[in-house]
Formats: sequence, C-alpha cells, structure tokens
Amino acid sequence: MNVALALTPSFTDRPMLRIACPFCGPRDYSEFAYGGDATVVYPSLDADEDAWHDAVFMRENVRGLQSETWHHVNGCRMWLIVDRDTLTHEIVSVRPAHPEWANVIAAETSLKEDT
Ligand SMILES: [Zn+2]
Repeated sequence: MNVALALTPSFTDRPMLRIACPFCGPRDYSEFAYGGDATVVYPSLDADEDAWHDAVFMRENVRGLQSETWHHVNGCRMWLIVDRDTLTHEIVSVRPAHPEWANVIAAETSLKEDT
C-alpha cells in the first residue's frame, strides 16, 4: 500500500469506496475499472496528431467534483458516468454512460412510481 495514502486521514477513516451501479446496486469499487475523465471530447478519426495527443494525454487534475467513466468489469459490464468529489470521494451521482440505457432506467423508475 502507498504509505502516503495509508497515512492520509481521509483515506483511513472512510469506508471503502462503493459505487451504486444502476443495474446491480451498490458494489465495492474493486469490481470496477476506472475509465478516465468523462468530459473529454475525442476528435474525429482524421484529426491531426496534436488533437489526439491532447485528447488522450492532457488531463485536468480536478480538486473537487469530477465526472468519471467507470466500467463495471466484474458485474454487468456496463460503462457508467460517476460524479465523484476527488477530495472526499463522495459519489454524487451514477448513471449509465450510454444515453439509451439512461432512458430505459428512467422509464422503469417512472413505471414503479406510478404503481
Ligand atoms: Zn453493474
């Protein structure tokens, strides 16, 4: 374990990070793979090398709320967008990365609320 992380109070005093997968329910973060910044807009396939370099390698080091992609590798295998505070690790929201799945979940939630 990284000594700096082990000695950081916010790391040792908090329970393990859990992500509420919209398909599987709350799961330990170890079931997921971090995918990166969810706000990156990738260039077209014929864009120049500099545009691709910036899209792939240049990142903001956000201190606070950040949108991230996570892959539920050891679960439903869906890609999710997780809004997480990088200081506290608090997860504000989790939604499917693919908008069609978000629409399906919204429709099902609406049906459950109507009954
Ligand atoms: Zn899942």
